[in-house]
Amino acid sequence: MKDSFGRTIDYLRISLTDRCNLRCSYCMPREGVELTSHSEILSLEEVLRVSEIMAGLGIKKIRLTGGEPLLRKNLIWLVEKLGKIHGIEKLALTTNGIILKEMLPRLAGAGLKEVNISLDTLERENYQKITGSDSLMEVLAGIDAACEAGLKVKINCVPVKELNSSDLKELAALSKDREIDVRFIELMPLGCGRQYTHIPADEILKSLEEKYGEYEEITTGKEKSVASYVRFKDFKGKTGFITPLSHAFCSNCNRIRLSSEGFLKLCLAYDYGVDLRKMLRSTESDDEIADAVKKAVCLKPAAHAFNRENEGPEEKRNMNKIGG
Ligand code: SAM
Ligand code: SF4
Repeated sequence: MKDSFGRTIDYLRISLTDRCNLRCSYCMPREGVELTSHSEILSLEEVLRVSEIMAGLGIKKIRLTGGEPLLRKNLIWLVEKLGKIHGIEKLALTTNGIILKEMLPRLAGAGLKEVNISLDTLERENYQKITGSDSLMEVLAGIDAACEAGLKVKINCVPVKELNSSDLKELAALSKDREIDVRFIELMPLGCGRQYTHIPADEILKSLEEKYGEYEEITTGKEKSVASYVRFKDFKGKTGFITPLSHAFCSNCNRIRLSSEGFLKLCLAYDYGVDLRKMLRSTESDDEIADAVKKAVCLKPAAHAFNRENEGPEEKRNMNKIGG
């Protein structure tokens, strides 16, 4: 699928739930969270149907996210089915890792090959402060289990001045002895994230260089579009930087997002798109839904407005509703 700026759209991120077993303070409020009712959330059969339609339109990669996707009942069934869709070359999942260890054998058995695990600190007390839960040990066990099962593991960290600025060097060292990639993702000013300050990638790289010395730039092919990677001397894994703010990559953006309520979202920063749930629950055919997706994709904006003064993002929802 091409959008009206000639970008190829081949990556779909699917949020399976807005529920979460953590409350990361830049993502979700600690209390008073309004959760979507079960009837409003797409069934897994509906998710599968949309995915099949999307594959027919040229989507090659699907990432399952949330909220916390591992909380979704019958997830294994979905993973198995999505992995078998003709045209889907890559199926991945983003998780906070808390219940990853116990689910890993079944996830790997269902064909999952890649997992991104979100982790913002290795300091137990600070982990609890940031997430509201004393679960660091479970996450570390999940990382170990994923590595042992032979999955490609990436750690996603959101550096936030007020929360974890002094923990980033230690976190980067997770890629020293194992082929894990540690990626630093700039905080986006959405929902709860607006109250915090992002740390620019260049600043992080400089401080890592002071600690770990020389590095080589190793960003390759497709990765170039959204992330830049370096490898520090003697590190087995890579260190990555995803920089929506300091080096926006909108001109290479290849993704669209499906919310757990079935709303197809075209850009993280804007709340417009198309309500696929309504179509899925009416008599519309797959072809009619495919046409609606193609039309919607033409409305994908050229760029987000995170950096423009007096023009904050339209999107007011928290990230647990959008999926990151
Ligand atoms: N619960 C899962 C997890 O934490 O990996 C999946 C959903 S979570 C919304 C996906 C990713 O979005 C996480 O890595 C999280 O750190 C990131 N995230 C949440 N709010 C963000 C924000 N305002 N800016 C940038 N990333 C954010
Ligand atoms: Fe939950 Fe992920 Fe948001 Fe943290 S970042 S509150 S784990 S959805």
